[in-house]
Amino acid sequence: MKFGGTSVEDPAAINRTASIVAGRVAAGKSPVVVVSALAKVTDQLLRAAAAAAQGDRTGALAISSRLRARHRDTSCALIKTPADASALCNLIEQKFDSLDEILRGLAAILELTPRISDLVVSYGERLSSRIIAAAFAERGMNAAHVDAREIIITDSQFQKAAPIDALIDKRASEHLRPLLDAGRVPVMGGFIASNEAGITTTLGRGGSDFTGALVAGALSAEAIEIWTDVDGIMTSDPRVCPDALRVRAISFEEAAELAYFGAKVLHPATILPAVRKSIPVLVLNSKNPSNEGTRITSVAPPCKSPFKSIAVKKKLSIIDVVASRMLMTHGYLKAIFDIFDKYQCPVDMVSTSEVSVSLTVDSNEKLPLIAADLSKLADVNYEGKKALICLVGEDIRGQSGMAAQVFGAIRHINVRMISQGASEINMSFMIEEDDADEAVRSLHAAFFKDADPSVFDTEARKAAVSSSAG
Ligand code: ADP
Ligand code: ASP
Ligand code: MG
Repeated sequence: MKFGGTSVEDPAAINRTASIVAGRVAAGKSPVVVVSALAKVTDQLLRAAAAAAQGDRTGALAISSRLRARHRDTSCALIKTPADASALCNLIEQKFDSLDEILRGLAAILELTPRISDLVVSYGERLSSRIIAAAFAERGMNAAHVDAREIIITDSQFQKAAPIDALIDKRASEHLRPLLDAGRVPVMGGFIASNEAGITTTLGRGGSDFTGALVAGALSAEAIEIWTDVDGIMTSDPRVCPDALRVRAISFEEAAELAYFGAKVLHPATILPAVRKSIPVLVLNSKNPSNEGTRITSVAPPCKSPFKSIAVKKKLSIIDVVASRMLMTHGYLKAIFDIFDKYQCPVDMVSTSEVSVSLTVDSNEKLPLIAADLSKLADVNYEGKKALICLVGEDIRGQSGMAAQVFGAIRHINVRMISQGASEINMSFMIEEDDADEAVRSLHAAFFKDADPSVFDTEARKAAVSSSAG
């Protein structure tokens, strides 16, 4: 069971989480609990580290001091048994003392390496997992805190470390299995890990989902539950499209595609350890635990609607490379991609013609360098503030007229680049970022007006309409 930041953001949320876990235990299940840092803590830790490394010692320590107070207050509200409360508070003070020490060090050396960034940011999950384990114990659960860095072993690519499956399997059977066998509920932080030398690493932003899947894979769990703040995977981001519907069931392939193209609800790599062992993934709402959520399975259920969901990825740049010297000779595309490779910059979408190649990438600080290298091969233009809209569904395979319907629904919006076919289950196109929300809403209205009730929760929509009418 993995609980995201909003599911542990404050004492009320942690209490809800405790009841959900206690419910599973009462039903005879043996869960392992993986928790994120309290909501927004990861961002704040990164800000503190950046401030310190820029010499703003006071600013960095002020962020840390606010975080210290928040964690202390959260613990005090949850733990009433005096001995346990003081043990937890001492632990929190110690951890913040050592964090402050690191921040002061950064302010002295004025340099933030990926390795130290991982160390700073790890405090979020190290603290949250301690507090939540104590809160579970306070509520009578036989909880055991486990340092995730003892279980999730990775390579040394700080900030995006890759797990070493064989070692994780071994650690899970050594450290987690005996706890489960003894009827205990292990509670560990997501996202954080360590390399073989024991140095702290992280799995990349949003990586707690990945931790959940890695643990589930290592223990051959019955299921992975991703507990978040929405009813499941929806037909689009409910923040953009308030009438988004819950998708009852979706395939691994569709979910991976959606996640990759911006549906933040699930971290893309989550899918892999689960696929490997055919473990079903459930996305559930900790604020509405009785809702059945979304079930992700290896085979998609048959669906009358062509699409399952619409994802949007913002903050992208488009790069146009127009051949002036080499034209489309053999080796030209390789030369272009070698440059992206050199800067370790992933490319989302590509489109080519006889004389030009357009590529899209996450907007990043290396773009001017990439463009400078590319301009040795060809004329280069790049522009930011673009968004990629991606419609996903296994039922678009082989359907005719789909493109006409999609572009008909957004005929008022200028489309810069189109791609279909790479995976056969997604159709994506690039537009100006300012048009993105409007495009999603128009597409949603066009494709989910008469959604198939066996796949989408159309009841919730009816209930919402009748309650607002009432
Ligand atoms: P957590 O902290 O639990 O990991 P995240 O913030 O990472 O939660 O992901 C949940 C958020 O993902 C939701 O609040 C929602 O705004 C966003 N989201 C984006 N696309 C979708 C989608 N298709 N379905 C559901 N949620 C989505
Ligand atoms: N706390 C980490 C982040 O915000 C990991 C996670 O929550 O999944 O990226
Ligand atoms: Mg997340």
